[in-house]
Amino acid sequence: MLEAAIIYPTKHRKKIISCDDCGIEYAKSEYKALFSNSKIKYFKLTHPEDKTIKFIFCHDCLFDNLKKVLVGEEIIEFAIVSKKYEYICHFYPEDLFLELEGEFNDEGEGMDDFLSSLE
Ligand SMILES: [Zn+2]
Repeated sequence: MLEAAIIYPTKHRKKIISCDDCGIEYAKSEYKALFSNSKIKYFKLTHPEDKTIKFIFCHDCLFDNLKKVLVGEEIIEFAIVSKKYEYICHFYPEDLFLELEGEFNDEGEGMDDFLSSLE
């Protein structure tokens, strides 16, 4: 399964964080503030078959790229890895609808809510 690990500002070593796709970038201090307000989160996506291939994506590009990688699939299943949990997610590209398994299954929630629900 594809795994996207949340990049925590405190764990990020470089002074700047940038998205490998759209190029949006922030200084670490800015990212810290945006992260805690759930305005943006960056994710590290590792190729399931080749662990040396890694990308850093903002949340928008994460979903765009999942759509591209798994084109034609009705449901995209992937895991978001946080410090505490591994969230199994089902993403319905046709409807841009995302649901989280288990207790985090808040149907039809917006992206801000989704980002803030990740601990
Ligand atoms: Zn991006």
